[in-house]
Amino acid sequence: MWKRINSYFRYRFFKTYSFLKCDDAPEKLTNFTIYLVDDWSIVFKCPCGCNNNIHLNTLSEASPSWSYKIKSKKVNISPSINRVKGCGSHFWVRKGKIYWC
Ligand SMILES: [Zn+2]
Repeated sequence: MWKRINSYFRYRFFKTYSFLKCDDAPEKLTNFTIYLVDDWSIVFKCPCGCNNNIHLNTLSEASPSWSYKIKSKKVNISPSINRVKGCGSHFWVRKGKIYWC
């Protein structure tokens, strides 16, 4: 519950995620940045504040896999991200913003 309230405020008052295309994810990730790693992975910090990094596979041959679209310089990721390990966050990334499920 607190997590949701917290993220609501983030959603309202914090900035939208930007994205960065790169060949390799940096060792230290910047907040509110989604790294699009050489067309095979998406890496970013978990938006719940647990400080874990999320790695999403974007190769369709492997499962599970995600895809992203850039629309008016904002990133959309589908399907939703459901962390079964760690904090258990479940959310969508739409237009660079986090929408909690
Ligand atoms: Zn988290």
